[in-house]
Amino acid sequence: MSGEDIIQLYRTGSEEELVKLEEVTVNVDPSDLPGKPKRTDECSICGERVFDNKCELVDGKLTCRACANGAYYAVKKQESPARA
Ligand SMILES: [Zn+2]
Repeated sequence: MSGEDIIQLYRTGSEEELVKLEEVTVNVDPSDLPGKPKRTDECSICGERVFDNKCELVDGKLTCRACANGAYYAVKKQESPARA
């Protein structure tokens, strides 16, 4: 099927040709559901609160992921305000 054929199918195809609907089950950990955290721990290194088992064990101690694996961000240095 060429790209043109696919575009034509999207333009003129019936729902049955374009979409397959079926019931499914999804396994979701209760701690990943939206809403109030079910469990709160404290990072043993930085003291940040860690919600719903999103912590790591490092040398037998609970830590946040940033302390365990490094943060995905870097804090920007703030420039000092100019003195008048
Ligand atoms: Zn931490």
